[in-house]
Amino acid sequence: MHVLVLGAGQLARMMSLAGAPLNIQISAFDVTSENIVHPLTQALLGHGLDNAIEQADVITAEFEHIPHDILDICEASGKFLPSTEAIKIGGDRRLEKALLDKSGVANAKYHVINTKDDFTKAIELVGLPMVLKSTLGGYDGKGQWRLKSQSEADSIWPEIEDCIAESPNQAVVAEAFIPFDREVSLVGVRSIDGTISVYPLAENIHTNGVLSLSAAITDSALQSQAKQMFTKVAETLNYVGVLALEFFDVSGQLLVNEIAPRVHNSGHWTQQGAEVCQFENHLRAVCGLPLGGTNLIRPTAMVNILGEDRLPTGVLKEQACHIHWYGKDKRPGRKMGHINVSASSYFELSEQLLILSEILDEASFPALKSYAIKLSHSDS
Ligand code: ATP
Ligand code: MG
Repeated sequence: MHVLVLGAGQLARMMSLAGAPLNIQISAFDVTSENIVHPLTQALLGHGLDNAIEQADVITAEFEHIPHDILDICEASGKFLPSTEAIKIGGDRRLEKALLDKSGVANAKYHVINTKDDFTKAIELVGLPMVLKSTLGGYDGKGQWRLKSQSEADSIWPEIEDCIAESPNQAVVAEAFIPFDREVSLVGVRSIDGTISVYPLAENIHTNGVLSLSAAITDSALQSQAKQMFTKVAETLNYVGVLALEFFDVSGQLLVNEIAPRVHNSGHWTQQGAEVCQFENHLRAVCGLPLGGTNLIRPTAMVNILGEDRLPTGVLKEQACHIHWYGKDKRPGRKMGHINVSASSYFELSEQLLILSEILDEASFPALKSYAIKLSHSDS
């Protein structure tokens, strides 16, 4: 099987690594340069979308911000999965909120803003505090504002107005601020015949809007709530492949924050912690193969490596640590790789995370120590 991935970043790279044992070959299409590249070496394999489509048995995507003309050409080839509609929805918060409503899953109250009148109405309908998010192009917390009180409304409006004016299709979604206890996400997979299998929930720690740490958790009540919501969204989309749902946990009640129609950073722990990782399961699904197991095999946490291109050798000496580099050039804050930390119990995992926090610089890995301490006090 030959799978073409739209996007040539780390997610295509990890799909390539996971597909190799099954003889699934991956090539990656860089949507900006229109080059077809090898996802591991970045070696040039060809040029142009038509060539890329011609060579592929199946086409999928590693991100949602893909120009619609490219998606439409892929759709017309009849080879694209999960569905170009799902990718378009994932890249537009307006459509995403409408999907959540249509699927009947709880989510934060919202109002779409195109004009100053809409902004006034949003404050009335949604209430304060609120979070404002650009409908197109947002990621890692970018393109967001917090509005805490009416007195700040006039000073924030010019920024919202500029954002809306960026492009004809741009708008801003105003959302009620949710005072959540924690953020969790569910990564799951749906096959062509409609079979659904989900991984254990992951708890996510963000620092400055970017995912810093993600760890598999076991909470059966929350898990079944999340699975029900996942099923509703995946079935509404008639989805095929890996899908991620991000949630706010408010006293044990989940609200969907957003969806990602692809493999997800909060599912990287599955490489060491689950029977079959999210990358292999995505490929299995889009290639029409039976799904692999999604059960937890050992407690595992993932720590993102942001803006660093080397680690102290002490990390490699820790047998619990598995390093995954993405082969990217160093830039401040850029996702350069991740470390999966596995253990035979949650207590041992907390100890391993603590050891790692002593090897690594706290400024670059801010969530590590506090999560290790929190885990050592929990009874899971
Ligand atoms: P990412 O790409 O990391 O998923 P994003 O740019 O798509 O981020 P969101 O996930 O919507 O944006 O928001 C980023 C973070 O901002 C959330 O993880 C959460 O911590 C906070 N946040 C977003 N919406 C709300 C809300 N309605 N109430 C409270 N906090 C929020
Ligand atoms: Mg998010």
